[in-house]
Amino acid sequence: MKTLQRTLTIVKPDAVRKNAIGDIIEQFEKNNFRILCLKMLEISKHQAEQFYAVHAAKPFYNSLTDFMSSGPIVALALEKENAIADLRKLMGATNPANAEEGTIRKKWGASIEHNAIHGSDAEDTAGFELSFFFAGYELAK
Ligand code: ADP
Ligand code: MG
Repeated sequence: MKTLQRTLTIVKPDAVRKNAIGDIIEQFEKNNFRILCLKMLEISKHQAEQFYAVHAAKPFYNSLTDFMSSGPIVALALEKENAIADLRKLMGATNPANAEEGTIRKKWGASIEHNAIHGSDAEDTAGFELSFFFAGYELAK
């Protein structure tokens, strides 16, 4: 049975600085993701730490949360069948050097940290991440 799934994606500060918002959103639409909601915002260091709490023990946590709070980002709630895995595929590997041709990270990523885009990796993290950026009434559609 085909079931719709929702996922949270972020156009990261590096991609916003490169004027890549439009190109990345075009990829979502061309690949049949429905955009449920989107917002451009800046998050604080503390908010970035909460969002990436799962990585708190990693050596890159401090640098990652500095980066994610370094400028505007665009958060989007996306919907399609198999949205979580399909978005991860469209994003490409975490390290852009290993990302496949045609992926967003291949095109826009500069390094393993400055890799242009975030995407939820599982249903439970998608639930947490969607509600981190969007209220229930915004997702009720
Ligand atoms: P993904 O975003 O592909 O799910 P992870 O969840 O492992 O990757 O890591 C979250 C983010 O942390 C990455 O997108 C990247 O910005 C950053 N990151 C991951 N690994 C490293 C690393 N080894 N050095 C610096 N930054 C990293
Ligand atoms: Mg991840």
